[in-house]
Amino acid sequence: MKNGVMMQFFEWNLPNDGNFWKQLKSEAKHLHEIGVSAIWIPPAYKADEQQDEGYATYDLFDLGEFNQKGTIRTKYGTKEELRNAIDELHKYEISVYLDTVLNHKTGADYTEKFLAQEVDPSNRNKPLEEPREIQGWTGYNFPGRGGKYSDFIWHWYHFSGTEIDDSARKMGIFRIIGENKYWSETVDSENGNYDYLLGNDIDLKHPEVIAELNHWGTWVANELNLDGVRLDAIKHMDSAFVKQFLETVRKERGEKYFVVGEYWKGDFESLKKYLEVLEYKIDLFDVPLHYKMYHASLEKEKFDFTKFLHDTLVTRFPENAVTFVDNHDSQPGSSLESQVEDWFKPSAYGLILLAEKGYPCIFYGDYYGIKGNESPHKAILETLLDIRRRYAYGIQNNYFDHPNTVGFTRTGDDEHPDSGLALLISNGEDGEKTMSVGENHQGETWHEITGCIPEEKVTIDEKGHATFLVKSCRLTVWIKKD
Ligand code: CA
Repeated sequence: MKNGVMMQFFEWNLPNDGNFWKQLKSEAKHLHEIGVSAIWIPPAYKADEQQDEGYATYDLFDLGEFNQKGTIRTKYGTKEELRNAIDELHKYEISVYLDTVLNHKTGADYTEKFLAQEVDPSNRNKPLEEPREIQGWTGYNFPGRGGKYSDFIWHWYHFSGTEIDDSARKMGIFRIIGENKYWSETVDSENGNYDYLLGNDIDLKHPEVIAELNHWGTWVANELNLDGVRLDAIKHMDSAFVKQFLETVRKERGEKYFVVGEYWKGDFESLKKYLEVLEYKIDLFDVPLHYKMYHASLEKEKFDFTKFLHDTLVTRFPENAVTFVDNHDSQPGSSLESQVEDWFKPSAYGLILLAEKGYPCIFYGDYYGIKGNESPHKAILETLLDIRRRYAYGIQNNYFDHPNTVGFTRTGDDEHPDSGLALLISNGEDGEKTMSVGENHQGETWHEITGCIPEEKVTIDEKGHATFLVKSCRLTVWIKKD
């Protein structure tokens, strides 16, 4: 879809009231009206406790349907409410992507005894002891579901690591020992080997596991009529598994089934390597771009904008880049806290929402607010979304040629009358820049529409140039005046 926009529809501090799917349903029309074309929904399956966000996954097949872990609904509601919400979103042609956690499980039903070996958390290849029998929480038979949709029973040998030895009352990272079993070698190399993240690490090389998760992936896509998934924690997952999982699900749902992976690393080379391995059949969040925004917001005028776009996914692999400003993991109190400061957020969203390349994703917290507090960015987001829909067309000309005042233009195209725009941001003093919006705009009068300099007008000269202004630490967006 041309100029599509995704919204991550959740944040970390939602109330555990079971009303969230109903809220999503009632927002469908509004989301369509403001220009959102896809929604990323949180992990919708039963976690180890009702209040969990869903990342502490217990039963992938329980979408709020069975009485397990003391509750039928999840934090967000029931399966039926979720289906109703998705139907409503589809009515407004909004795609739905499910957050998908296939790296680990928690909240087992019973313990089992098996051989394992505690390893050094900072080097998971380094054992801290000889192999010994431990008692781990690795048995899952899902008594509340009774085999519906799948009769698969998880055992210790379906995992590669666990976190508790119950008999010794000890916590740590225990590598499970078995035939042909070791950490996956196709994961991130941090901490020696980053296969293990938390809970029971799923052995994604085990044939029974692969078959079961493939079954689930196609089942859930059909059951919820999904348009795609967001894959959680892929840097901790065997890349061969991920590749064949996508192929399997796309065989069922079609090649357009959308997949974006969370490979949380600011280092561009790691993401590049991952895209190569996956043969570019996956999108990734542009984490390097996020960190640039984060540092720009912290360092203010000391941040040099001339290298802002270097080694970001959106520059190097635009077809595979999901651009974003913040998410549930970067918000304060979360595991990867790196929240872009408020003063810079309008500029950051301008940079991703009005750009030619990248699939932008808006964070729920930046639109609806965090912990029920209203967001200061709601109005500017609506303005930018409106500009994206009406004016953000044509070629992009970049002007990242000054440490503190940078911008770009869009020339517009024939399909969208009067489209084209100029964006300018400053992280220092008031600034100005002469930029070209294309000769086709010569003689037009343009004005500023974010409210930064509302009275200001410029005339486009015969070569398509004009000198645009911006105030200190602000953003301006210029379009043709009616
Ligand atoms: Ca893993």
